[in-house]
Amino acid sequence: MSIAENIKQLKAILPKEVTLVAVSKTKPIEDLQEAYHCGQRIFGENKIQEMTQKWEDLPKDIEWHMIGHVQTNKVKYMGPYVNTIHAVDSFKLLKEINKQAQKSNRSINCLLQLKIAEEDSKFGLSKEDLIALLHSEDLKSLAHIKITGLMGMATFTDNQNQIKEEFQKLKKTFESFKGQSLATNTQLKTISMGMSGDYKIAIDCGSTMIRVGSSIFGARN
Ligand SMILES: *Cc1c(COP(=O)(O)O)cnc(C)c1O
Repeated sequence: MSIAENIKQLKAILPKEVTLVAVSKTKPIEDLQEAYHCGQRIFGENKIQEMTQKWEDLPKDIEWHMIGHVQTNKVKYMGPYVNTIHAVDSFKLLKEINKQAQKSNRSINCLLQLKIAEEDSKFGLSKEDLIALLHSEDLKSLAHIKITGLMGMATFTDNQNQIKEEFQKLKKTFESFKGQSLATNTQLKTISMGMSGDYKIAIDCGSTMIRVGSSIFGARN
């Protein structure tokens, strides 16, 4: 099936409160253009250099989401244009994002990554560190970022129950902040969870933003 058909099929089954991030990493500009022409405006990339090249080459009404792990010294390259950074896992990184957003006189949305998977390889904050970060005094001074939600990645496994439990953990943590008094730059509304293999489970567990690559663009090399 074509990219356009894949997107149409996917959008047809998505509840309206769930936003689709089309993960276009490693894919050529033509593939993104095909998605763009059928209405897709949100694209996710995991390498800053590649994303910046695509931003330069494509229409400027695209919302660029950085979904990969970010090194502090590279934030400056996407400061002028990135819409949302999904995998923020330290105050140091938030501070740098704020600094680079300020330089361009803009605001950048940040999602804090909670570690929900069992594997050691997955980045993310522990629940304790997430709570401490959201309640820290230092956070209040960052006027050029908005913390708009949480993000998580489930363990890469066939065990559907395990995936479900991990997504439920993210949802529960998200809910636990409701009604708490947080900094003015913090308005938690997004739960970014679910990829090609597990977005259906993620939606059942309360996801509001799925990041889907191979089910749209085909397998990556
Ligand atoms: C690559 C990637 C995705 C998309 O993966 P697919 O299985 O191709 O849908 C989603 N989230 C993150 C963080 C990724 O790196």
